[in-house]
Amino acid sequence: MDQIIIEDLQVFAHHGVYREETEKGQNFYLNAVLETDTRNAGTLDDLGLSTNYGEVCRFLDEYVKTHTCRLIETVAETAAEALLLAFPLIRRVTLEVRKPEAPIGLPFRSVSVKIVRGWRRAYLSCGSNMGDRRAHLDGAVAQLRADEKCRVLRVSDWIETKPYGGVAQDDFLNGAVALETLYTPMMLLEKLHEIEAEHHRERTVHWGPRTLDLDILLYEDCVMCTEELTIPHADMCRRAFVLEPLAQIAPYERHPLTGMTIEKLREEL
Ligand code: ATP
Ligand code: CA
Ligand code: CA
Repeated sequence: MDQIIIEDLQVFAHHGVYREETEKGQNFYLNAVLETDTRNAGTLDDLGLSTNYGEVCRFLDEYVKTHTCRLIETVAETAAEALLLAFPLIRRVTLEVRKPEAPIGLPFRSVSVKIVRGWRRAYLSCGSNMGDRRAHLDGAVAQLRADEKCRVLRVSDWIETKPYGGVAQDDFLNGAVALETLYTPMMLLEKLHEIEAEHHRERTVHWGPRTLDLDILLYEDCVMCTEELTIPHADMCRRAFVLEPLAQIAPYERHPLTGMTIEKLREEL
C-alpha cells in the first residue's frame, strides 16, 4: 500500500502523569505513516482523490492539544482512531507519539509509543427463525451501518434454509455480511452480542430457535481460539447455510486454515 509520511509534527500539549507536566505542558512530536492508495491522485494530479496531509497535520495538532491524557499510549490510541474516522481514504495508520522532554531524571534522547491501527476486513453470518425474520436481519445490518466503527461493504441475499443441528424448529433465513471495522475481534463480538440483545435473543436451547444470531466467520487472516471466540468460525466449512451466502459476496476469499476459497469449500460441501 502507498504511504503518506508525516515526520516530527511538533505539538505543545499537557499530557502526563505528573502535575508539572499537566500544568506547564511540553513538546510532543508525532510521526504518522498513512497507508492509502495514491495512484488515482498521482495519475490525475488531483488532491481531491488523496488525503490532504496539511489537513491531517492540523487535525492531529488540534486533537492532541485538546484531548489531554495521562499516557502517551492513550494519546496514540485515541488520535489514531479519530484520524481513521475523519479521513476515510486512510486504510491504516502507524502513529508514533514522542515525548523527548519526559521527566525521567536521566539523560535520554526520546521516549515514544508507536502503534498501528486500521480498518480490518471481517465476514459475518446472520440467521433468524423467530418472529419477523427479515426485519431482524435487515435491522442487524442497519445497526452495523449506524456504527461509525463499521463500514458495511456487501450484504448477501437472505436465503431460506432448513434448521441445522437436530432441534425441531422453524426454517431459517440466513445471510452473510462483509464489513470493514476498527474493532478488534473481541470488540466486534461484543458489538454483535449487543445487537442480538436488542433483538431479544435468548440462549435457552443450544442451536435452538432464535430471533437473531450473528457470528464472526472470518477476520482478516486471523486464527484464534479462546473461550469466547474462535476464528475462523469452527463449524463454517460444514454449513451450507453459511457458505452459500458467503460465496455470493466473497467467493475468492480464502479460509486461513485450509487455504481454500469459499467457493471451493461450498462446492466440496
Ligand atoms: P454456533 O457457534 O455453533 O453457530 P450458536 O451461534 O448458536 O452456535 P451462540 O449461543 O450464539 O451459539 O454463541 C455461544 C458463544 O459462542 C458466544 O457467546 C461466543 O462467545 C462464542 N463464539 C465463539 N466463536 C464465535 C464466533 N466466531 N462468532 C460468534 N460467537 C462465537
Ligand atoms: Ca451460529
Ligand atoms: Ca452465535
